[in-house]
Amino acid sequence: MSARKSDSITASLSPINRESELRTNAAKLAQLWKSAQIIHMVDSRLSAGDDSLTFIDAAAVTALQESFVEGDRFFLGIGRDDNQPYFAWHTTWINPPEDDGTEEFEKRKYEGFKSLRELGGTLDADELALAMHAVGLANWHATHIHCARCGAPTVSDLGGSVRVCPADSTQHHPRTDPAVIVLVKDKDDRILLGHQPIWPDKRFSTFAGFVETGESFEECVSREVFEEAGVYATEIRYLTSQPWPFPASIMIAFEAITHRPEEARPDGTEITEVRWFSREEMKKAVAAADILLPPTMSVARRMIQAWYTAVDGYTREQLRGGESWRP
Ligand SMILES: [Zn+2]
Repeated sequence: MSARKSDSITASLSPINRESELRTNAAKLAQLWKSAQIIHMVDSRLSAGDDSLTFIDAAAVTALQESFVEGDRFFLGIGRDDNQPYFAWHTTWINPPEDDGTEEFEKRKYEGFKSLRELGGTLDADELALAMHAVGLANWHATHIHCARCGAPTVSDLGGSVRVCPADSTQHHPRTDPAVIVLVKDKDDRILLGHQPIWPDKRFSTFAGFVETGESFEECVSREVFEEAGVYATEIRYLTSQPWPFPASIMIAFEAITHRPEEARPDGTEITEVRWFSREEMKKAVAAADILLPPTMSVARRMIQAWYTAVDGYTREQLRGGESWRP
């Protein structure tokens, strides 16, 4: 067997330099806005075509202000290659389209806009990074409009990177909830996947859970794997990470080994079925539509893909399917 490179698991670097030192300079931000590439957002949806984001300029924003309530402007950063400033402009409608009760209503209402879930599988890595940043900020701002300390209404500041309480001058930073995600293997290099009852039929994925207060990532990996799949995880090794703004997570990905694969069993609540897969078994299961893999934009899919393609003869193309969120 010749050595070959499997699909990379390493997260690629963002195409945007966040230039955080510019956030304190309101005059500079206002100047950058004039030449910016701007993502228009409505209700956390992004201006987009079928498979890419749509950018507008400041003049277009001015024209749209007749129809949209100005929400927050988020300074996303400066493009590393094109040296362009990037912003997101988060709005709501002044007169939202009226619900006429037809099935097509949602589609018409958000014509020209797409949710990250709809877009995720189709955007390239650069646009996905921008979209994750914009949606993550929009989600956070929308749900943190009051000061956690005194309850007074807060205002967005520093290019949308914080909120400030005018009553007690406290600064509030966007919240990110860490969650671990684990590819469990046995000594024969099989992987263990689980099915959650809320998922579509036959969807199997890696195990995941939120990091609790006072817990290390490794402890969380060990706890989640035992709780959900009934096995002890050892040789825990960090793989990669991925922002996951649904609504505010970062996924920290690990692999781990269990020495007693036969003891794997679902917890019956969060996980209702577990299955071991060798590469050959996975190849056959995908070909027979006996498994639906997690969406291509997910780190779970990347972990499974990197494992699968690490051996000659097993290719990414064999793992087709599961590109969308719902079958
Ligand atoms: Zn306050």
